[in-house]
This record gives sequence, C-alpha cells and structure tokens, in this order.
Amino acid sequence: MIEIQELTDTSVFGQIAEHQHEQVVFCHDHETGLRAIIGIHNTVLGPALGGTRMWQYASDAEALNDVLRLSRGMSYKAAISGLNLGGGKAVIIGDAKTQKNEALLRKFGRFVQNLNGKYITAEDVGMTTKDMEYIHMETKHVAGLPESMGGSGDPSPVTAYGTYMGMKAAAKKAFGSDSLAGKRIAVQGVGHVGGYLLEHLAKEGAKIILTDYYEDRKLEMAAKYKAIAVDIDEIYDQDMDIYSPCALGATINDDTLSRLKCRVIAGSANNQLKNEDIHGPALVDRGIVYAPDFLINAGGLINVYSEVVGTSRQAALNQTEKIYDFTLQVLNKAEQEGSHPQKAAIRQAEERIAAIGKVKSTY
Ligand code: NAD
Repeated sequence: MIEIQELTDTSVFGQIAEHQHEQVVFCHDHETGLRAIIGIHNTVLGPALGGTRMWQYASDAEALNDVLRLSRGMSYKAAISGLNLGGGKAVIIGDAKTQKNEALLRKFGRFVQNLNGKYITAEDVGMTTKDMEYIHMETKHVAGLPESMGGSGDPSPVTAYGTYMGMKAAAKKAFGSDSLAGKRIAVQGVGHVGGYLLEHLAKEGAKIILTDYYEDRKLEMAAKYKAIAVDIDEIYDQDMDIYSPCALGATINDDTLSRLKCRVIAGSANNQLKNEDIHGPALVDRGIVYAPDFLINAGGLINVYSEVVGTSRQAALNQTEKIYDFTLQVLNKAEQEGSHPQKAAIRQAEERIAAIGKVKSTY
C-alpha cells in the first residue's frame, strides 16, 4: 500500500528543498516512544490539511520521503478543487497493531496543537476513529471526525461521487458521450469508495467487472450488483472500456500497461501512475484517457473542508459535482498543450497557488 519513491537526495534539507516544503516538524517523546514527522508543504491557500498515517517504515528516510510526497499531493488536491486549504500530512513511525496507545497518540496531539492550526490532521492508514478521539483530546485541529462528534463523518460516499463524476467526464472525452450505460467497467477494490462507486455505476446500467483482495467482499458485491467477479491479478486483462483502480497506488506501471485494453482510466486510488513522467505520456500514446487521481478523488477532502468552514454535506456534494467540469477542462488543456492529464492537472494546481500567493502579497 505504501509506495516509496527512489530518493534522489537523501539529506534532510535536500529532500525538503526538492519540492519546496515550508516546514517539517520532527516529533519525539522519550516516555511514549513517539517518533513522528509532520510535513507542511504549502499554506498559501490556507491551513495545511492531511491525515496522519501510522506505518512501520524501513528507515527514517523512507518516512520522511513518504510524508513529503503525501503532503505535496494534498496541496495539489486542495488547489485544483478550489479549496482554501494547504497541503500537509503526518506520519507516526511504528507498528499500528502493537505500538499504538493512548499516551502516544495524545502526545502526538500536543505536537499538532503546538502548530496552532497551521496543520489540521485527520484519519489515514493505520489510524482509527478511536485514535483520532485521543488526538482530539489534546488538540482541536482535527477534522473528519464522526458525525456523532460534530465532524463530517465518513468521506467515502463523497469520494465515490467525485470519482464517478470524473469517470463520466473522461468517458465524454473518450467516447463522445458521458453515459456509462452498457460500458464495461472493471473496478479494482470494492472497499469503502469502490463499494459506493458500484452503486452509481449499477444505477446507470454499466456492465461491472470487479475484484477485491477479500474474497467475501468480492462475492458479496458481485451478487449485489450482478457483476462479474475475477481474481485480483486478472483485472488488468479484462475486455473493458474503463479501468477503475480503487485499491492501491502504482497499478499503472511497466507490467500492466500493455495489458490494459481500456479507453479510460478513472479511479479513487492515490498515486496510480507508478512514474508520472513515464506512464502519464505512455497512456496518451496508447489512446487511453486518464482522469488525474488527485483531481477525481478529492471528494473526501471537499467533505472534510465543509467541516472546517462549517457548511453542509449537501454543499460538499455540490462542490464535488464540479469535478466533472474540472476533469474535462484538464483533459482538454492537456490535449491542447500536447502534454498528459496528470501533468496538466499539477500545472493547474501550481498556477492557482502562485496566483493566490500574489493576491496575498499585500496587506
Ligand atoms: P478500503 O481499504 O476501504 O478499500 C480498499 C479495498 O481494496 C479493500 O476492500 C481491499 O481488500 C482491496 N484491495 C487491496 N489490495 C487489493 C488488490 N491487490 N486487488 C484488489 N483489491 C485490493 O479503502 P477506501 O477508503 O475504499 O480507499 C480506496 C482507495 O481510494 C485508496 O487508495 C485510498 O487511498 C483512496 N482514497 C480514498 C478516499 C476515501 O474517502 N476513503 C479518499 C481519497 C482517496
């Protein structure tokens, strides 16, 4: 699940400088054994928001690399979605099954609190709602809590809706119509987001092929949505119009590229392209329309943002619907520029950050 990039410069400041991160906080506590890193990429648009991940990294350099990469991704996701949020992320180094306890999490919460709202944390891999409750005991700068605690609740249905909107826009580009009726759509991973996505696809009359690591879940979803269930490695070889990665990152890579006979790729997984500079252009060469991952999976962040600014879930859904227009804009822009959609999306995000930075340059 965790994709570690190859490090070009392993020095701490070398890595921080590479993508111009603003601030990186190393948190250590002798009593609880806490070792965490908070990465703040950019706060031009607003406070840096992003989840806390707990993972057993092979080295501190890997942990730093992960937090830097993820926090940068959050800046882009917020910027392209028109949100006034910056990009941040945190990692706690350790085994989430054996090394997590109340004191460690509350200590981490105090480090978040010390940033005075410059960083807002949320749930990510290796963390549970209960863990977030502990962190919340020491800091108010936590978002994405359950509705029972005044939060915005499960983001997955909103993420799925945005992914569906992005998929329709990409279909419009590839097929001339955004209707998914009769389209063969292969969904890889039918967990929280994938499960909700299936509802939209089934309602539109798509022919669904699906897979999941968990056999029970796979069969349950296949029966519910009259879908064809296949083994996890068979998903790439299906006769399909649309491939929808909703499980893991880096599934578009040298091994899978020649196997994917689809016209569209649109899914919720983060970091779908193993190497953006290689696999982004390769998809264009193959005539596959790729809906940029961080653009079409932004519904969850939009939902959390509604909690930060105090608007409703309906407002979040309305904003998420705009992913359709944003996706079409990016796809057209990439075509005009002769580049690839991921690159065009990153450029658009960077341009908004730069433009708003200039707005804020005077008092
Ligand atoms: P999840 O853990 O609920 O679901 C993922 C599913 O993928 C699980 O059912 C798992 O069994 C399955 N899976 C794992 N490895 C697989 C493999 N090799 N082949 C097929 N299936 C496999 O996670 P989720 O919340 O549904 O998120 C799905 C993806 O979307 C993740 O990449 C996540 O980072 C991304 N995402 C989620 C949200 C959100 O709101 N939940 C927001 C943005 C991005």
